[in-house]
Amino acid sequence: MATDASSSSLASSSVTEEEMTLTVKWSGKEYTVRVCGDDTVGELKRRICEVTNVLPKRQKLLYPKIGSKLADDSLLLFQLPLKSSLKMTMIGTIEDDILVDQVDSPEVVDDFELGQDEVVDIKDNAANKQKLRRRINQYKIELRNPCREGKKLLVLDIDYTLFDHRSTAENPLELMRPYLHEFLTAVYAEYDIIIWSATSMKWVEIKMGQLGVLNNPNYKITALLDHLAMITVHSDARGTFDCKPLGLIWGQFPQYYSSENTIMFDDLRRNFVMNPQNGLTIKPFRKAHANRDSDQELMKLTQYLLAIADLDDLSILDHKSWESYNEDNFKRRRHA
Ligand SMILES: [Mg+2]
Repeated sequence: MATDASSSSLASSSVTEEEMTLTVKWSGKEYTVRVCGDDTVGELKRRICEVTNVLPKRQKLLYPKIGSKLADDSLLLFQLPLKSSLKMTMIGTIEDDILVDQVDSPEVVDDFELGQDEVVDIKDNAANKQKLRRRINQYKIELRNPCREGKKLLVLDIDYTLFDHRSTAENPLELMRPYLHEFLTAVYAEYDIIIWSATSMKWVEIKMGQLGVLNNPNYKITALLDHLAMITVHSDARGTFDCKPLGLIWGQFPQYYSSENTIMFDDLRRNFVMNPQNGLTIKPFRKAHANRDSDQELMKLTQYLLAIADLDDLSILDHKSWESYNEDNFKRRRHA
């Protein structure tokens, strides 16, 4: 017979994992979304975005007797008295001018270092694994080009990784990180390329189109992923934040991609928290007008990616020391 303590923890875990269907009214129509008790308000807004196309940050949610609690994106849904019988109202508009939206969007919070133990806790946490499984089922990755047999996988962030989205210029090409096309052309020989941004798909397509990445004759992009593919995780020290779980890609294309053949570049280390061994924190490309002539990161990273492309398992590398790997590799070749 279960003790009081264990039966109460069982009860609370069934409450948090229970799925519920909510009805959301918006612009004269009703939509239904499926969520779980351990989803945050932020995740609820993502589900609503999937059916309405109103970006989460543009949504204001109203619900009887809840007051302003739905304004807190980190709040867990089981902490709110939501009932399937009551309807939620959403107020918000679809972005018409996505470029104006980028300029007035809030600055990304600074990156933070998570301790090793903290990363392990988040990655191994059962609720986070469950969220990942749900995302694998909910988010369908659409292939723009077929996965290629025997290639490794490179996953790239956009903002501050490939593009300085905070500076302004008449021509977006002025804000592109130097050597972007040379980099993509060279690594395409060994890697399939997926671009994953924490913004909306509309913006990803516009931006990559403007930079000439989507129809380049020298390389092909396998897929584009957006913020809806991310999951929200919690750390006691850092609170609630979003990350990019590579397991979503591995779960949908297990015959091609795995933790052994995938590497991801992002300027925010916390985006790798579900797969720390696969992430390389790239130096952010900011102030494009001042740094355009000196930034050589993509050139140097080309060398690294091509040097490690023959390894059977990329996840045994410590990508933090990619620069010294390049130097050692250079010395090895000189002495050979
Ligand atoms: Mg970024």
